[in-house]
Amino acid sequence: MNQPRRSDTGMLIAGFQKTSFVDYPGQPCAVVFTPYCNMDCVYCHNAHIIKRDAPLIPEDPVLEYLEKRVGLLSAVVISGGEPTLQQNLEAFILRVRTFGYAVKLDTNGTKPQVLLSLLSKKLLDYIAMDIKAPANKYDEITHSCVDMDAIRRSIAVIRNSGIPHEFRLTFAPQLTQEDALETVRMVKGCDRFYLQQYRPRNDLDPRAHPPNEVLKTGEAIAREIGNCTVRGLGPEH
Ligand code: SF4
Repeated sequence: MNQPRRSDTGMLIAGFQKTSFVDYPGQPCAVVFTPYCNMDCVYCHNAHIIKRDAPLIPEDPVLEYLEKRVGLLSAVVISGGEPTLQQNLEAFILRVRTFGYAVKLDTNGTKPQVLLSLLSKKLLDYIAMDIKAPANKYDEITHSCVDMDAIRRSIAVIRNSGIPHEFRLTFAPQLTQEDALETVRMVKGCDRFYLQQYRPRNDLDPRAHPPNEVLKTGEAIAREIGNCTVRGLGPEH
């Protein structure tokens, strides 16, 4: 198996989307994907980058591109994989911020101390955290042994961060509406909540909940926590 290239200075990068109009609310952005994840979710569509032998791309051309796009793009999204596993995440964000970009971080919430550190240094402008399931189904959905105290600490850190944030739940077929409601009670009072339609990765995966069920669950979540937007069914939702 090929070993991933290690760097003492640069952040490891497995993918780069040069332009996006949907990944940072209201701002044209680029998206950087970091390799590796400490989860293996049943619906992960980034399986090619979460493996230990994920192919990497060099950091320098990414930074050079971002420097050239100042004025055309206004934000950078760091997604994954799980970015908080990256040793040089902070150094990368510092570089990006010198160009004047706003920074959004996507996370699975397993590293609250990393979030706290970045927030205390005012390095983030937006955080999006995936919550996966009620506590008793977290391990089943993520195929991993999750420290729920860490998840709860991340939720608290993000809710108290004072910066715009969102939480999102993918409505996997393994979850019922009651599971979804139990999950969202963990983030009651959050800025924005998104219920995302599940997309099977192949024909062997379980089928998604029908759209009307997803919409009804979204309405039930909105009644429970005060807001919910359904994503992934089409532009009208
Ligand atoms: S947390 Fe995200 S990147 Fe990691 S396995 Fe789950 S869906 Fe994939």
